[in-house]
Amino acid sequence: MAVNQSHADVVVVGGGIAGACAAISAAEAGAEVVLLERSGSTGGTSALAAGHFYLGGGTPVQVATGFEDTVEAMFDYLMAVTPEPDATKIRAYCTDSVAHFHWLEAHGVEFERTFYPGKAVVQPGTEGLMWTGDEKVWPYRDQAKPAPRGHKIAALAEQGGSQVMRVMAAALERAGVRVRCEGKVTDLLTDEAGAVVGVRCRDESIVRANAVVLATGGYVMNPEMLETYTPVLAANAVPLGTPTDDGSGILLGQSVGGALAHMDGAFLTASFYPPADLLKGIVVNAEGVRFVAEDSYHGRMAAAVMGESRAYLIVDAATMAWPELPMIKFIDGWETIAEMEAALGIPDGELAATLRDYNAAAARGEDPVLHKHPDWLAPLDTGPWAAFHLTPPEATYVGFTLGGLRTTVDGQVCRADGSVIDGLYAAGACASTIVQDGSGYSSGTCLGESSYFGRRAGAHAAGGSA
Ligand SMILES: Cc1cc2nc3c(=O)[nH]c(=O)nc-3n(C[C@H](O)[C@H](O)[C@H](O)COP(=O)(O)OP(=O)(O)OC[C@H]3O[C@@H](n4cnc5c(N)ncnc54)[C@H](O)[C@@H]3O)c2cc1C
Repeated sequence: MAVNQSHADVVVVGGGIAGACAAISAAEAGAEVVLLERSGSTGGTSALAAGHFYLGGGTPVQVATGFEDTVEAMFDYLMAVTPEPDATKIRAYCTDSVAHFHWLEAHGVEFERTFYPGKAVVQPGTEGLMWTGDEKVWPYRDQAKPAPRGHKIAALAEQGGSQVMRVMAAALERAGVRVRCEGKVTDLLTDEAGAVVGVRCRDESIVRANAVVLATGGYVMNPEMLETYTPVLAANAVPLGTPTDDGSGILLGQSVGGALAHMDGAFLTASFYPPADLLKGIVVNAEGVRFVAEDSYHGRMAAAVMGESRAYLIVDAATMAWPELPMIKFIDGWETIAEMEAALGIPDGELAATLRDYNAAAARGEDPVLHKHPDWLAPLDTGPWAAFHLTPPEATYVGFTLGGLRTTVDGQVCRADGSVIDGLYAAGACASTIVQDGSGYSSGTCLGESSYFGRRAGAHAAGGSA
């Protein structure tokens, strides 16, 4: 049987946000682009996303809603929250953030010039901006001037991602990208020197290319890879994503010598807010000791809880509220702290001591232990008291992966020795760019970095710059 062979300047593998932005960018740089998508339509996990993009440095939404932000403040924040920050990538991302905002809007991703002031995982309405990270949480608020940077496309609640990907599908068409669905890539083709020169699909068809951009998403649906790289996620969380998040692009990159980075990175969450009042409670471990500031972003809270054998959210009658998302488990209420200690298996007097010290400081508007923001400080001295279980499996965690192929700032895939593999690029959740772990994650970083570094990869693959 004759093999179906074709040629393109750039082949993009995967039609989520990273692949769409890479393909559009490459096409706008003058390349003939083929996008191969294994599903029946483009969209990927990006279409499931809430629709936050982490952008800053003085975007039109920040300016219109009265928030001052600078490239330096955004840079300082991302450097501070990232375990092993890649200063070159973070610098580029922050410097170009306002321009990237304009690029997204020019391609149809519209953001309302409005701000949602509540503490929520996603704003319920179409507001364009909210706090989606740890900018106001100690120690970061002392290391970088806080500003809200969670920009959401003008769509209700969690419908942002599907709206973004509808817009991107139209933008792909306008840019003249040839999109081929049901086109799963199974192999990369290389020349004698090891450069990537095309792809083979499941139906054996071949597309030769000057460059290939992998944009195939993460690996949360690949149990073997989860066991190997992110056992904490495998053991404690329900995988959040689409079935195609099976790491195929990461494996393709590895098959030609690509190295991996930050593969142990995972985002987990079982957010107990909204309602925001629950942030006035305290989170303690099996010894009755606080270990994380309760006003932390929900991903940071989850990462801290994973380090403990047990964790509880403790509230008093004045702060008691029911979480809007049914992810953490209500245990019971008690008339005395001693009864609560006994029921939770916390050593006698330990929780009482924690509450005594916390309440005394909170009454002065202080938290000398974990520096919780004064907005969330209130003595928990009105009985009865109640506890919620924050530990899995009693609490239900969901999560996705953050690590991927090691890349340069322009998305070129690197070998373990740092050399680049000619002709091969990666972007989005199959690459490691800015976000490295759940503790330093701010909502919007994935769509933000996938779109921005997708554009850079596409432009570089086409021989230009984004
Ligand atoms: C419920 C949920 C909400 C989220 N909300 C947000 C949010 O608001 N903000 C944020 O920043 N992040 C969010 N995230 C994370 C974010 O959605 C992802 O990190 C991001 O969408 C990844 O984009 P991508 O383009 O790399 O991958 P995807 O969007 O998954 O696209 C990859 C595409 O590649 C295709 N593909 C895979 N393998 C192959 C192959 N071998 N051949 C051809 N095609 C292939 C897939 O079918 C898919 O279409 C959320 C995640 C989830 C699950």
